[in-house]
Amino acid sequence: MPGEGAENAEIMFIGEAPGWHEDQQGRPFVGSAGQFLEQLLKSIDLRREQVYITNVIKTRPPDNRDPLPQEIINCRPWLDKQLEILKPKMIVTLGRYSMALFLPGKTISQIHGTAVKKDGVLYFAMYHPAAALHQANLRGVIQSDMLKIPGLLAGLKKETELNKAQTSQKEEIQQLKLL
Ligand code: URA
Repeated sequence: MPGEGAENAEIMFIGEAPGWHEDQQGRPFVGSAGQFLEQLLKSIDLRREQVYITNVIKTRPPDNRDPLPQEIINCRPWLDKQLEILKPKMIVTLGRYSMALFLPGKTISQIHGTAVKKDGVLYFAMYHPAAALHQANLRGVIQSDMLKIPGLLAGLKKETELNKAQTSQKEEIQQLKLL
């Protein structure tokens, strides 16, 4: 179950592993956690078709057990290839397995709702949407973390425009020097 979404998505959501529903349909986040994820996307005026949604693990772990370290290693080349092809500007990690890949050594309770830029990509950690289904108090936390995304995306856009303007200014100066 590779994942799905827009080829030109600016933002990639990376969950843990497919569950029963995802395994049946061959699509990510289509069960109850997926319904909550869609609501969260809607709260920031996005539809799932506008982003890319995938998982660390590409096949369903039996009995919904946690992914094994070796499974994470085995699936990594697929995830890396997806990142290489899609080149998202922003990666939202959903849950601790996804967070551990990109933001190692951190705990989700400390860094959820915060963003960090590494190698030109903005990483943003969130609790897994399924966490809200088990712990009602996390629902509001997840909802308010999600609401930070539009501002972060707008900041990225501004940065890109500024960089472009600076590059063309530099080119103009170079040309003037050559005259
Ligand atoms: N949970 C996940 O982490 N991924 C899915 O695709 C569905 C549920």
